[in-house]
Amino acid sequence: MIGPRPHIAAIKPYHLPKVEADIVLAANESPYNLPQSVIDEIKDEFNRISYNRYPDPFSTELRGLIAADYGLDLDNVFVGNGGDEVIQNLFLAYGGPGRKAVTFDPMFEIYGITGRITETEMVSLLRDPETLRADSAIAQAYDVDAALIFLCSPNNPTGDLVSLEKIEELLKNTDALVVIDEAYAEFSGQTALPLMAKYENLAILRTFSKAYSLAGLRAGYLLANNEVIESLLKVKLFFNFSKLSQAIARIAFSHRDIFEKKIETILGERDRLFAELSKTEGVTPFPSEANYIMFRTEKPAAEVWQGLLDKRILIRNCSNQVLLEDCLRVTVGSAEENEAFLKALREVV
Ligand code: PMP
Repeated sequence: MIGPRPHIAAIKPYHLPKVEADIVLAANESPYNLPQSVIDEIKDEFNRISYNRYPDPFSTELRGLIAADYGLDLDNVFVGNGGDEVIQNLFLAYGGPGRKAVTFDPMFEIYGITGRITETEMVSLLRDPETLRADSAIAQAYDVDAALIFLCSPNNPTGDLVSLEKIEELLKNTDALVVIDEAYAEFSGQTALPLMAKYENLAILRTFSKAYSLAGLRAGYLLANNEVIESLLKVKLFFNFSKLSQAIARIAFSHRDIFEKKIETILGERDRLFAELSKTEGVTPFPSEANYIMFRTEKPAAEVWQGLLDKRILIRNCSNQVLLEDCLRVTVGSAEENEAFLKALREVV
């Protein structure tokens, strides 16, 4: 039988180990399910939906809600099945053969993978090997004749923010579409949104998967100028975003205030976790502005990862990523989960 196109055959699938664990702190999810009041509202909506009819292909109501909240127009907002699908559509519209896309590595790996799938030439600029910050690499992007530049702030997995000054400098010095991935912005409190009025080449990516407790739903959005959004609407699958997804995302977004308290709790736990990790011998945590902490260990990362798994705690081993040889990343969980993780880690390292 015929195989796939050669560049697809050459791709290693994105691999997450399929393992059983009691405590899962591996994917930067919220430790809290949706509040019951939100679930009840979803149930009411669930009973009203006409499932026999196709969804609104333009998710008009949801996009309108998001746009209004940011003081933008409907045609400045694109929604999709998670940030991942938005990223895929960005590559479909702006990447592809003969086009280049820049990442500042180590960073969220889906960019490189989607780039390769779409035959986009990926230009991987390395972060500072010591601090793991992107600052020193940003100027190198000016000389790349790129169509897309992706910069995560806070960065996954390192946890650091890029200053708005640095982002503005980048926007001034490139014609590329600069996508600031703000998947964790609800935790950092910093957003590049104020720069949008000034720079037409800025796009901001957000997700419902982290602060809004909706990783299981798959919902994300992009804020950008209307030409970018129009291009994305052209390439997306026509009925990509289901009625149920639109309804649930709408309900969650309209109750953003409910999630504020949870975000505060997670931030408090993160700071406590950081302090405890700093006191743990053989462990060096990196400061984080998000809901996870990356840390170096003196023992090989794979050994630490397995040791924790033997105690039924799953975190992320980052050691396959460039510059992160001895690094692991733990998601901030509930107080009990964090306590169990710390206890197990002290035994393992
Ligand atoms: N960007 C970053 C930096 C992420 O860490 C993630 C999820 N891990 C995403 C985007 C995509 O999230 P989702 O597809 O769940 O919206």
